[in-house]
Amino acid sequence: MVNKMITAGSQVNSCFLPGSTIGLLGGGQLGRMFAFAARRMDYRLHVWDPLENSPAGQMSDRQYPVSYEDLNCAKEFAQHADVITFEFENIPSTILMELEAQRPVRPRAEVLHICQNREREKNFLSSQGYPLPAYRIVNSAASLQAAVSELGIPCVLKSADFGYDGKGQFKINGGQECETAWAKFNAQRGVVETWVDFQKEISIVCARSVDGNLCTYPISENIHHNHILDYSIIPARLDQQTQLEIEMLARNITEALQVVGLLTIEFFLTRDGRVLVNELAPRPHNSGHFTFDACVTSQFEQQLRAICGLPLGSTKLLSPAVMVNLLGDLWEKGPPNWYHIFSESVAKLHLYGKSQPRSGRKMGHYCVLADSVEVALDKALILRKLIDRRLSERTKK
Ligand code: AMP
Repeated sequence: MVNKMITAGSQVNSCFLPGSTIGLLGGGQLGRMFAFAARRMDYRLHVWDPLENSPAGQMSDRQYPVSYEDLNCAKEFAQHADVITFEFENIPSTILMELEAQRPVRPRAEVLHICQNREREKNFLSSQGYPLPAYRIVNSAASLQAAVSELGIPCVLKSADFGYDGKGQFKINGGQECETAWAKFNAQRGVVETWVDFQKEISIVCARSVDGNLCTYPISENIHHNHILDYSIIPARLDQQTQLEIEMLARNITEALQVVGLLTIEFFLTRDGRVLVNELAPRPHNSGHFTFDACVTSQFEQQLRAICGLPLGSTKLLSPAVMVNLLGDLWEKGPPNWYHIFSESVAKLHLYGKSQPRSGRKMGHYCVLADSVEVALDKALILRKLIDRRLSERTKK
């Protein structure tokens, strides 16, 4: 279902209209919410995820439960899709390049290649002059030792490849810890960076269309627990100058990478007011889940519009919001007590269709909308206590 459209620069571009088939790599919750947006508008969805009946696979027209290394699967997947995107970063470059040879992959394979590896990502950012914590690349205990003496302590060692939610990270508080940290570090190369004494962690989702239009979503203020996002407050409580700085950085980085789709940028705001880039993700993001309930266009619909060559939708915030992640730990004494969430008329529950509630696993989230972030935060945190059966059992005893 390809249409020709005339873009602003009167260049002819293809756009994919409802009825087209989107190929999605990755079948997690980001893909599931993307599927809701796509299916609502009658797009077909093919999901490639090694796991059968993945959260997004459950919502798809066709699943490819095959390893991401399979070149034959790549050929077939591309053959049956009009345009391809991803919700997961750890996809081999060879596969993405094979797909790109046959169909538009958005964002392009090169963007994923940079963002899926911390070394390439940080080198890209620093070569372009963007602000980030001081870092060094290390490949042995000796080079780690040298980097730690240059950077000073504390610092943090992170694997170059395949890192998320603090996985593969070691905080180093003294030079004598380098040997042990390297021995435990399960990777060939790492990035070591200074530990930032931040006042806030913030993130922003930026969208860029095929014809180069950019828009940003309201900034999220993110509270992490054990390196995993716990909850997000929107709009982030920031002064106007910091907001403008973050929006400008987001637009510039998205443009520099020539992203078509979404780019999420995570930042540290230091105690002395500096904004440092922590991480890039060329896809929808956990901290952008609020957009589903609280914005005119969700981040998932925006991803769809961008990759289909359509105009971007409004990112206007309809209401302050707080988004709370529901991790598997909450299921320890059985499913959380959902009744409380339904009893709060301004709360929206999202569950991801995962049957195994493991500790630290993202099982769902809820979003509370209110006239102010203070009220939304109060309600969200009260709800969290109410639904937690571990707490009610403790009070019974
Ligand atoms: P990452 O996977 O790199 O985003 O790290 C996960 C979380 O670890 C971040 O959201 C921070 O809370 C914390 N973290 C990572 N790097 C640093 C750093 N250099 N300084 C302080 N905290 C950090």
